[in-house]
Amino acid sequence: MKIGVLGIGQLGMMVALAAHPMGHRIRFLAPTEAESTSGLGELVLAEYDDVDALRRFADGLDVVTYEFENVDLEALKKLSSKVPVHPSIEALSTSRDRLLEKNFFRELGAKTPQYREVNSLDELNHAVKELGYPTVLKTRRFGYDGKGQSVIRLPEDCAKAWKSTGDADGGLILEEFVSFERELSLISVRSSTGETATYPLIENHHVNGILAKSIAPAPDVSEKLQNAAQHIAEQTMNRLDYAGVLTIEFFHVGDELWVNEMAPRVHNSGHWTIEGAVTSQFENHIRAVCGLPLGSTQLLGHSTMFNLVGKIPKARKVLEVPGAHLHNYSKAPRPGRKIGHITVTQKMDEDSRSCQRVSKLLERD
Ligand code: AMP
Repeated sequence: MKIGVLGIGQLGMMVALAAHPMGHRIRFLAPTEAESTSGLGELVLAEYDDVDALRRFADGLDVVTYEFENVDLEALKKLSSKVPVHPSIEALSTSRDRLLEKNFFRELGAKTPQYREVNSLDELNHAVKELGYPTVLKTRRFGYDGKGQSVIRLPEDCAKAWKSTGDADGGLILEEFVSFERELSLISVRSSTGETATYPLIENHHVNGILAKSIAPAPDVSEKLQNAAQHIAEQTMNRLDYAGVLTIEFFHVGDELWVNEMAPRVHNSGHWTIEGAVTSQFENHIRAVCGLPLGSTQLLGHSTMFNLVGKIPKARKVLEVPGAHLHNYSKAPRPGRKIGHITVTQKMDEDSRSCQRVSKLLERD
């Protein structure tokens, strides 16, 4: 099939790498070129809201998917009258607005942190009184890696928080600050035929708001917890007539899962599936959007994924660690920028010495 991908970041790169062995061909659309995807498909160079360019891009494609959420919705709607777009536009519009997203999960019956819509400093002061301290003020849109967020611990923090985020396009949301035990994510997938599959819950560790490490399967997960996560994901995908990979991020609170947010796409916390599962999230995403049978999500061992943020260690040092795999996205290094990752996959009964070696290597570098 001929598959269109909006975006040329590392997620687009790994989607394309998974598509090629099955004989699919990729056409990217992006406003700039990128080394990571060069050679992996044709590139239509244009802005995401350029309707004429989108028409050219769609010509001859069987299906279109996207690797990030900030695509122009109206342009995408026009595109979807020519070629199927997966995941659904409803999934995209819900997931990229924190308020609509939380309303959606509440309607499903899932737990979320308490929240209030906020459109002025007065409303913020009022909402803080209702939710108590601490709370976190977030922009409804365009937030990622903890950007566009301010924690409010004291009454005087309100004005400061409002000053730093109050003029955001699309409004704000105030959330109770959850003292969770840990952060977990669930990667699930639904084919356009309606078939579904799910990977085990993943434990995620963040540093400065950026994902640093994912452990799969997450340790000490009861069957009840896994089933609860799966139930929410299946309801979400069915309700949104979903095709593709869906990621839901949870806070683990007591013996409950509270939804933090969802991403209608392949996800950083699932990169380990390339070496650690029978079928990677990227291959399953392609299978799903093409209406093909899904691949097994069974694990091949336990995996730890380390993000490489701002710098890449020497390849030789990484590759001499048993079970370690290096992924370099060929992106220019910049502080805070994800430019690669390392996955260590080992049999379930193997010890964790390789993970410790990689952790040390990253501390030293
Ligand atoms: P987000 O962009 O909403 O995923 O937020 C980035 C990170 O900030 C999350 O992974 C959490 O570590 C933290 N965070 C976000 N919302 C809350 C909250 N309501 N309570 C506590 N921590 C939060």
